[in-house]
Amino acid sequence: MTGIHSTSELRRCLPTVRADLHAMGVRLRTPVRVRLATEGELDGTRGDGPATLGVTHVVNDVATGITVCPGMPRVHFGSTVAHESMHVWIRQHAFPSLSPVVEEGLCELTADEWLRRQSDPRARLVRRAIATSPDPVYGGGFRAARAALTGRRMGNLLRHVQRYGVLP
Ligand SMILES: [Zn+2]
Repeated sequence: MTGIHSTSELRRCLPTVRADLHAMGVRLRTPVRVRLATEGELDGTRGDGPATLGVTHVVNDVATGITVCPGMPRVHFGSTVAHESMHVWIRQHAFPSLSPVVEEGLCELTADEWLRRQSDPRARLVRRAIATSPDPVYGGGFRAARAALTGRRMGNLLRHVQRYGVLP
């Protein structure tokens, strides 16, 4: 497979991504729709991250859906859905207002944990890109969240941030 270009390919791929996320303890209270962006739709969008591969739509602090770039290989698609799903999860679990560094760091950590479970060799390359990103919010946030996960389970880390609004 060269990439996810159609809704039918997305529907084939999404359940396995969701199953991996559930195994990680990231289960949405209400699933949100994941759809592919139409041609040019994400151009000029203030999207998520240095490269806009996905966007979580939020209306009145309620996450209403996820839109991802078409054509991504499965590992990029899955890590993008994992990242955006954590934004949704945070909205659905009534977190206090988080700094972008903390929130994007948790989302990048979720993407990285999903990638860690994949056997596709390209997953390692995507993980390296996440870990070495020079972006202070995404790369810096990831490195802080990764350090905070050391010796903890993901669920414990998330509960701490939910309670205190900062990394432990
Ligand atoms: Zn994000």
